[in-house]
Amino acid sequence: MPKALETILELDLKALTNNFDYLKSKLSNNVKFMAVVKAFAYGSDACVVAKHLQHLDVDYLAVAYTNEGVALREAGITKPILVLHPQPVNFKSLIKHCLEPSLYSAKVLNEFIAIATTEKQTNYPVHIKFNTGLNRLGFWESDANYIISKLQDTEVVKVNSIFSHLAASEDLNETEFTLNQIKTFKTIAQDFISEIGYTPMLHMCNTSGLLNYPEAHFDMVRSGIGLYGFGNSAHENKFLKPIATLKSIISQIHRIEKGETVGYNRAYISDSFIKTATIPIGHADGIGRQYGNGNGFVTINNQKAFIIGNVCMDMIMVDITNIDCKEGDEVIVFDKNTTAEDFASTANTISYEIITSISRRIKRNIIK
Ligand SMILES: *Cc1c(COP(=O)(O)O)cnc(C)c1O
Repeated sequence: MPKALETILELDLKALTNNFDYLKSKLSNNVKFMAVVKAFAYGSDACVVAKHLQHLDVDYLAVAYTNEGVALREAGITKPILVLHPQPVNFKSLIKHCLEPSLYSAKVLNEFIAIATTEKQTNYPVHIKFNTGLNRLGFWESDANYIISKLQDTEVVKVNSIFSHLAASEDLNETEFTLNQIKTFKTIAQDFISEIGYTPMLHMCNTSGLLNYPEAHFDMVRSGIGLYGFGNSAHENKFLKPIATLKSIISQIHRIEKGETVGYNRAYISDSFIKTATIPIGHADGIGRQYGNGNGFVTINNQKAFIIGNVCMDMIMVDITNIDCKEGDEVIVFDKNTTAEDFASTANTISYEIITSISRRIKRNIIK
């Protein structure tokens, strides 16, 4: 890997292939793989990641919002794309770009049918989302008859899949709750299929569901975080490789005498002589203020350098008193050794949050 000359997010496509192969190895041959590339592929680069996955012959892609799907189409992605949380204002654009909506309420179902009718569609592929306990988005079990009556009235849409989402698939203390969600989903799906007269695909598992509940793989799994190298368990993390490395450099070194302060609000007051390094990355880049004041650390020449004082918009200052280093040296925020999950835990948050926060102004460097 080249040494950093500025703040850079390196994306390792070999690691992505490794993670995809590992997750697929957990599935029976007839189970399809939907790669979740919402939020810029979890803060990496959605077009690069989606293209690589398309090359690996992934079956489906998923994004959260319509504009994310449009960007993938404009980048030449031809695989089917599920839009998990589309807003009716974008339905025309969604249809124009052959994106497939998740329909999760009577309002969105009716608005989608109305717009697909105006757009002269037949059998447009849609996905019906049921709520089985997350209580976030989705029809209720008792809505099934209503949905079916709407669908039987129209040739405009065809249900490509029925799906639901697990609330606590990573938490083995919640196994009973999860098994109940799976059971509820099975009942909903059986009733739905017997009424509608054809068999849509069924899917329920995110990454942790895929890893912990093989009995819930159904026809397809939807995996996000696993592809990016995190399995929500120490055991699974051994087989997955973080694809993103966040690196920077030392811009300047300061010598701080006893009694001097460092940074905004003079939040750090030195009680002895220290040396600090200023690093060109701040809260505008995704390193939130909660990492400041001794919580988060970076790695310089294999040693931990803790963030001192408040995180600034464009910079952090770290304590290098006992580290042999000079201006221009490389700084690791997270990589395969000190992972984004390790970094996130210093501020009591999770891998998902830190990796999706890395700002667009940081250059992406693709390692093939
Ligand atoms: C984000 C998301 C996923 C992917 O979850 P991971 O834990 O990242 O694998 C799957 N399904 C839905 C509905 C989602 O919103």
